[in-house]
Amino acid sequence: MRTALFGGTFNPIHIGHLALAEKVADSFKIDRMLLIPSKIPPHKTGNVIPSDMRFEMVRMCAKLLGERFHVSDFETSNEGVSYTLLTLKHFREKYPEDEIFFACGADIFATIEKWHRYSELFDYVNFIVVRRSMISFGKMLEAVPEWLHDKVITEDQYSGEKSGKIILYEMPPVDVSSTDIRDALEASYRKANLPDVVYEYISENGLYRGDE
Ligand code: ATP
Repeated sequence: MRTALFGGTFNPIHIGHLALAEKVADSFKIDRMLLIPSKIPPHKTGNVIPSDMRFEMVRMCAKLLGERFHVSDFETSNEGVSYTLLTLKHFREKYPEDEIFFACGADIFATIEKWHRYSELFDYVNFIVVRRSMISFGKMLEAVPEWLHDKVITEDQYSGEKSGKIILYEMPPVDVSSTDIRDALEASYRKANLPDVVYEYISENGLYRGDE
């Protein structure tokens, strides 16, 4: 089986996240993809809404995406800070026979040296790194420790390894971020780059209003 993990703050989940989930799932023939909202993002500042609300929006989107897609409460229901290392270890133990992938954007991967015990992450999963408009793969590779370069391959070089590879994946960029969406909502409360169900949930609950 092929399992993909896709973690994020999802504050809120938007069409860029959904595009990544769908493209990765199709291109890598993923059997199950788990969307994993994080509980306490230590590096995030600003208006981060409660995890149960972010979780609910991700849950609705996973349902829209189809049967292969699920939301996981592994991080939102655990005590303390959500370290990616613990999440990857957990799913490696849960699915010992699987090829497991952790999907993320190149912006996030560029910061990998700062992640908790980052060098161990590659023992558990492969990374699928998706290009984002703000950073090229070249710049991203310059930002990560050099010993990781040996692990880098392209999509067509992947041949069934269960862990340890960093796969660079080009997909048509969707130039959207949660930050831009929060700014647009605060300014005018218009629907910007959000799935309908997410915008409805945000409106009904009065989230991301400028006066909060
Ligand atoms: P923020 O603007 O609040 O920092 P974000 O839009 O980058 O948020 P996150 O929830 O932090 O969203 O991202 C979760 C993951 O999704 C990260 O790996 C990030 O790189 C990736 N991602 C976010 N937006 C896009 C996008 N438009 N295209 C591809 N990947 C994306």
